[in-house]
Amino acid sequence: MINRLAVIGVGLIGGSLALSLKSKEAVNEVVGYSRSDEARQEALSLGIIDKAADSIAEAVVDADVVFVAVPMGAMASVFAEMSEHIRPEAIITDGGSAKAQVVSSAREALGDKFKQFVPGHPIAGTEKSGPAAAFATLYENHRIVLTPVSETDSAATAKIKMMWQLTGAEVFEMDVEHHDTVLAATSHLPHVLAFNLVGMLAQRDDCDEVLRYAAGGFRDFSRIASSDAVMWRDICLANKQAILDLLDEFHQGINKIEQAIKEDDGEYLVEVFERAKKARDSRF
Ligand code: NAD
Repeated sequence: MINRLAVIGVGLIGGSLALSLKSKEAVNEVVGYSRSDEARQEALSLGIIDKAADSIAEAVVDADVVFVAVPMGAMASVFAEMSEHIRPEAIITDGGSAKAQVVSSAREALGDKFKQFVPGHPIAGTEKSGPAAAFATLYENHRIVLTPVSETDSAATAKIKMMWQLTGAEVFEMDVEHHDTVLAATSHLPHVLAFNLVGMLAQRDDCDEVLRYAAGGFRDFSRIASSDAVMWRDICLANKQAILDLLDEFHQGINKIEQAIKEDDGEYLVEVFERAKKARDSRF
């Protein structure tokens, strides 16, 4: 049971954790802080938080657990602002989508309290943002990855693991670098591809005509291009090298497909498409 949970960044990810823990009666009080007053008031009126703090310091000062769920680009300044106000025994965790950058900014900003920081990433979400997008069951049957480092207190990791299990999620531990490589492949690259395709079509003069005939396949593939642009800019810049490595591999693959189409090499196309179909059918 958490007595006081502070959520910094009460949007989809932060708000959903608050709602879930409240629905399980696993928290006594949730205090929230978001940069915009509008988001704070919305979170309060939706019952996501019990109290809206006017500053990060006010939100964290009496908290037992602090969950940081702001866009990646805001993490460093949020850690710096909270550092001296956090209680010595409080545990800090986050929901950022790439871990190396978050770990390094937390290490720099939190000083002695860095050992109480448990880096985390819920592998759950939607293309929607803001407090109104939050819902209590977001994490049920989803995976949460924790990436504790050598300095991380193991009791803090155990407590955060238990917190996430209460939401109905399955919790895994991973190395920071491994996390960033895996997520670049399964989440970051697909978002870049979807943004690129939909953005490319949007620039065409006949865009409306083209999209009028888009069917289920296009909708499935392009759903994630509705995600928040600033959030995804931050993720791309935070996990730069892993994404660039994969883009390089992707270019090589797409060039071979282009060549095969040019040369009427149907055999190669079937080989690639069958390999992909088999891999997907066996897992989803
Ligand atoms: P969101 O836009 O729904 O919520 C972010 C909240 O942070 C908003 O309430 C915003 O007002 C607030 N905020 C922005 N800058 C701030 C600042 N400087 N100080 C305080 N508050 C600030 O975004 P989200 O989808 O909940 O994403 C939050 C984090 O979770 C991001 O780091 C993202 O990478 C990560 N994440 C997102 C998803 C997803 O599918 N959306 C999944 C896993 C992890």
